[in-house]
Formats: sequence, structure tokens, C-alpha cells
Amino acid sequence: MTQTLLQPDEYIDPDDGLIHCRNCRKPRQRLAIIFGHELRLQIPCDCQLKELKEDQKKRDAAEWERFIHHLKNDGLGWKTLWDCRFDNMQDQNSELAYKLKHYIQFLKEPAPCGLLFWGPPGRGKTFAAACIVNDVIESGYPAVMVSFSQLLEELTAMSFHDRKERLDSIFSKSLVCLDDFDLRFLNKLHVPLAIEVMNRVDHCNKPVLITTCYTLKELKDPKNELEGKLFPMVLNRVAILIDGDDLGKQVRKDHVKQLQTTL
Ligand SMILES: [Zn+2]
Repeated sequence: MTQTLLQPDEYIDPDDGLIHCRNCRKPRQRLAIIFGHELRLQIPCDCQLKELKEDQKKRDAAEWERFIHHLKNDGLGWKTLWDCRFDNMQDQNSELAYKLKHYIQFLKEPAPCGLLFWGPPGRGKTFAAACIVNDVIESGYPAVMVSFSQLLEELTAMSFHDRKERLDSIFSKSLVCLDDFDLRFLNKLHVPLAIEVMNRVDHCNKPVLITTCYTLKELKDPKNELEGKLFPMVLNRVAILIDGDDLGKQVRKDHVKQLQTTL
């Protein structure tokens, strides 16, 4: 008869002759007859099962974290934006905070409404938009936030094919955010691209966030042909309008400054 090697937390139960766990008293073996031979197969006791489940839970959590990290890498170019979160807002219970936190619900709507943050710089428009983008990404949906001017710059250097691929990739996300929409500093090369981007926004069936330094009055009163073409696209696409001045009371100044210096 071969000697059974026991771990320090095991014993042989005299009733069934099988190895049991000293902690939970459950068997770590079961008898099986295979081709006429009696075999003792290893099985996990309750504590080992618990440990296995905890390990699986940790692996799932790590995998989820990697997935979210990948979505953020893909959708939020600047690491500074990763830290823009609703829990950094001044008044968590204000009507405005409620409106922003619940914007995620539009992801599932067939005709989702857009949201526009308008008003002068330094009010926290980018911060608030990034809070929504982070919230959407952390819920597992792909979202993207791009600077309007940097996107035009990027598209200028691309071939027709690459440009199409880049725009397809942006507008295939569950949420698209165009940061700092501004037509005042465009050069001749940017103009057709700005029209192309805004046509995509106009036809996009996903929720769209736009931040802009224009006032509502300016957006409603275009001063040239390009503004006359693109401003209505912005206004038609957005149903929720957030005044930067209201936002300024909600967002901490240090967050705004940090974004202004790093973006
Ligand atoms: Zn056990």
C-alpha cells in the first residue's frame, strides 16, 4: 500500500478513507471506478473553491481594467483628461451635475440628443465634457474626445483613404466629443476638412458633445458663409445647452487651470 502524502491542512477521514480539509472538513478526494479500477480523484474543498472564485474575480477585474485602459488610450489622447471625474465637481447634487451625470442614458436612445457647452474659456467646459467621456468609457463603452483644431491639423496631413479611416473610427464610437469648436483660426486647407467633420457630426446617430468658446448669440447669428453653413449643424445636433458661466460655479478652478496648461 502506498503512503498518501498529506498537506499540513489535510487529514484522512476514517469514515470514507478520503483526504479531507482540516478547515472546512470537506473532502478533497472522491472515489471513481474507471475500467474496473477504483481511483481517488482530486476535488476542491469549500475553501479551495472560494479561493478559485476569488482568483477568477481578480482576473476578471484585471481584464476589465485593461479593457478600460485600452478604451481610454484610444479615446482620450491626453492623460490629463483621464482624471476628469464627476466626483471632483463642487456640488454633486445640483441640477447641472444631475444633468451631466445622466447624459450617459442617451447612449441607448435611437435618436440621441447632443450636448453643447458654450461660453468663454476657463469655465470648465472641457473638464465637464471629459467627465462625461470618462463616465461612458468606465461603463465599458468606446468614446472619443478630440480637439477640433488638432483633428483638422491631423487630417490635413493624411491621404484621402487615411482621413476616411480616421473619421470612420471616430464616428463609430458610442459617444463623440468635439472639444473647442472654433472656425476663427482656420486656414484654407482646414476649411473643407471642417465641413467634412461637421457633415459627419450632422449625420452621426450617436450622442455628440461639443464645447465651444462661441456664445449662443454668436452661434445663432453667423457672420460669414462658413459659419452660416456649420453653425446650424451645431445647433441642430444639440438639444441640451450648458452655459459656461453656470458650469464655472461647479468646476474647481485648479482643474480648469491644470487642463489649460496641459492641453
Ligand atoms: Zn477546506
